[in-house]
Amino acid sequence: MLDRYVKPDFIFNSYRDVTPDFLKSAQIDALICDIDNTLVTYDDAEPTEEVLCWYEKLKQNGIQVAFVSNNNRQRVSLFNSKLNAPAFHNSRKPSRYALRRAIAAMGISPERTAVLGDQLFTDVMAAKRLGIRAIVVTPIKDKKSLLFRIKRACERPLLRKYKNTSGING
Ligand SMILES: [Mg+2]
Repeated sequence: MLDRYVKPDFIFNSYRDVTPDFLKSAQIDALICDIDNTLVTYDDAEPTEEVLCWYEKLKQNGIQVAFVSNNNRQRVSLFNSKLNAPAFHNSRKPSRYALRRAIAAMGISPERTAVLGDQLFTDVMAAKRLGIRAIVVTPIKDKKSLLFRIKRACERPLLRKYKNTSGING
């Protein structure tokens, strides 16, 4: 039952594994990206060189990118200042609202769009509630707060199960 809402379609170690070749083979033309712990740590205000490179490669291959973050306006606009992608802050994932806006901004059909994130209960759940695909990556560096540790402890057995399920990459 829960699987319907939190089971990702693909699991990878890193956003770096989400290549144009992979996206083409999966018929994904647009990515709705989480920022924190998916692309950079909470401490990185701006994209790293590696993220910039990855982003450029996607764009060169005709992949649309939008950012949908639960973090605040300042965080998202500073991160996006060099990229100028459609970006949405305070998104309240697992709410679908910002995902819908991102899809509209990119002008790509939902069937060819996927969410890329690090959390089952926000990123993946938002995607699944909207009926689109979700790619999950290993979080780069977790916050140490109790709430976060509890959230991760809930995710861990599910992720282990999904990783062992055939048909999921990573
Ligand atoms: Mg995140």
